[in-house]
Amino acid sequence: MVIEQSIEKGHKPINYLRLSVTDRCNLRCVYCMPEEGIDFLPHSSILTYEEMLRLVKISARSGIRKVRLTGGEPLVRKGFIGFLEKLCEIEELEEITLTTNGVLLKEYAKPLKECGICRLNVSLDTLKAERFLQVTGRDYFDRVWEGILEAEKCGFNPLKINVVAIRGVNDEEILDFARLTVEKPYHVRFIELMPVGKENIWSDERFISIEEILSAIEPLGPLRPILSNSLDGPAKRYILEGGKGEIGLIGAMSHHFCDSCNRLRLTAEGHLRTCLFSDQEIDVKTPLREGKGDDYILGLLTSAAINKTKDRGPIESGPRKCIRHMSSIGG
Ligand code: SAM
Ligand code: SF4
Repeated sequence: MVIEQSIEKGHKPINYLRLSVTDRCNLRCVYCMPEEGIDFLPHSSILTYEEMLRLVKISARSGIRKVRLTGGEPLVRKGFIGFLEKLCEIEELEEITLTTNGVLLKEYAKPLKECGICRLNVSLDTLKAERFLQVTGRDYFDRVWEGILEAEKCGFNPLKINVVAIRGVNDEEILDFARLTVEKPYHVRFIELMPVGKENIWSDERFISIEEILSAIEPLGPLRPILSNSLDGPAKRYILEGGKGEIGLIGAMSHHFCDSCNRLRLTAEGHLRTCLFSDQEIDVKTPLREGKGDDYILGLLTSAAINKTKDRGPIESGPRKCIRHMSSIGG
């Protein structure tokens, strides 16, 4: 089984699957998806919902307990809610969460809650409408903000807000986002910019480390650290005095968390990835479509988990890049 074998190899048990349901998106964030020149997958290459459900059920046999749905933008795929209803029936799963850009959240918040989605992460890099247009290429700030308020109204608590910090783009808003956690019960998670995609915008100048973010927040008062549980990701978590929400810092570049990484990724075209920073993938769709049985597929998942990278090398050796666009991997 994946759990035991991965422990033997010195990994944290692999219990978390990030499932990308589509490579399409209704935004074009500058660090993720170029406006033009993307080769979207033909529909026939994308896993059907039935195939995804089968793969999740098999992975649950191997110890997966948490599934995060991501993309592209998951809410743009037709029939998503029907898929979710079936996914939520898989008994072994303890947590089903969703990462969304929030553009369609106003209409989807209620059905998502009714399906049994445990938590939502909404990606939002700026609180200013004009800057939102610059970062995402679309004038949808109001829609996203209304979606966040609707999700809060529907009882998504905590609501996580993912902020990719980029110097010269949104660094002057770090304090505003941190203050938001005092006024609102939101968990704002600052994420370091990663060099993902062929023509990514990553550079030393644009990069802001989590230490720098932490220093930027210090003027707001003491930060109380919070302990994480076994299904939590790699965020370092803090609460500001009197805060209704919390602040999370994800040092994806400056702090390797390979040793404690508990996740597998499944791309929309049915390729397993064990590390965001390695372009090695295992094709599970082909055997699935060739009619291979569950045990065979389980074997593929197991070997992916036991061969998972334990360390992607010294930080001083510079950033490891990933050639695929983040939208096709799922972040
Ligand atoms: N479309 C959804 C969204 O934006 O939330 C889900 C998919 S998106 C690829 C998942 C996460 O990856 C988002 O929070 C996004 O900000 C993050 N992301 C994408 N490209 C990134 C990059 N180059 N560096 C850091 N985070 C990135
Ligand atoms: Fe779309 Fe999410 Fe990528 Fe932005 S980060 S382009 S919303 S997939």
